[in-house]
Amino acid sequence: KCCLESTKMLTENDAADTALNLQSRPDVQTCTSWRAPIIWEGMFDPDLYDQIHRKQGSSVALTVFAIGRYLDAYLEAFLNSSEHHFMLGLPVSYYVFTDTPEKVKSIKLGPQRSLRVIQVQRHTRWQDISMMRMKTISDTIESDIRHHCTHVFCFDVDQVFTGRFGPEALGDSVAQLHAHYYRLPKKLFTYDRNPKSQAFIETGDFYYHAAVFGGSWKDVKALTEACYKSIMEDKQNNVEALWHDESHLNKYFWIHKPSRILSPEYCWDTSIRNRTDIRVFRLLWAPKHYNKLRT
Ligand code: UDP
Ligand code: MN
Repeated sequence: KCCLESTKMLTENDAADTALNLQSRPDVQTCTSWRAPIIWEGMFDPDLYDQIHRKQGSSVALTVFAIGRYLDAYLEAFLNSSEHHFMLGLPVSYYVFTDTPEKVKSIKLGPQRSLRVIQVQRHTRWQDISMMRMKTISDTIESDIRHHCTHVFCFDVDQVFTGRFGPEALGDSVAQLHAHYYRLPKKLFTYDRNPKSQAFIETGDFYYHAAVFGGSWKDVKALTEACYKSIMEDKQNNVEALWHDESHLNKYFWIHKPSRILSPEYCWDTSIRNRTDIRVFRLLWAPKHYNKLRT
């Protein structure tokens, strides 16, 4: 299935990538048609990535939103699990965005790790809460993150780290394969199909999950800014994309191909059974209680 034998990958100037073994996972696609790697367990040497990114001075901002009831429901477990698995050995700056900063409990952070709580407005509709993250992230990269971090990763809060999520995931522009779609035919992908929406696409490469994306601060700024612009244009035209920010993200990555893709091991839903290609759970969906959380 692999699209590459020995051709050099287009992507990053990441020395560790020369050690990526695309042939070690013949059971899955490990490389895209535009020669970006798809990162699966067994393809890389974790220690090598740790070493190289430490040497390069990589530092990572993690953004996460916990607004309304999502704070009590998910934030603490998310952050505690991240302290055990996310980018250990690199400097990490958490950016927690919430409407109720006083409710954020202090958690014990490892060395070279810091946390900032930033108050944001609470939009009434959950769709707007989700979509407006793009604006907040882009503004915070401009005002703060770009002065302190080389990379940014943006996460939904309703998830828990359960395994290594390390610097092998770092790249210029990083997209996450959606656990429910990576094995489905393209015609079932739930892209936005309304030509009136800025998120409209007829086809795409993969179906990406908006619960995880990242990259260099520059690329994430460009992505979040572009998605926010499209979202606002839709609002002016009185349309809303089918899956909100996720639809806009999928459109963006269709036009601007990601340089690195994460396998569904990096955002897995354990209600999916019997997948021998998933060798490790790195980040798991937490239970979704929409009836309690979204009303
Ligand atoms: N979110 C939030 N409060 C809300 C709705 C959403 O904090 O009332 C944030 C939170 O980080 C959440 C993300 O927006 O993980 C996306 O929403 P959700 O997880 O409900 O979307 P889904 O996973 O169902 O696509
Ligand atoms: Mn979510």
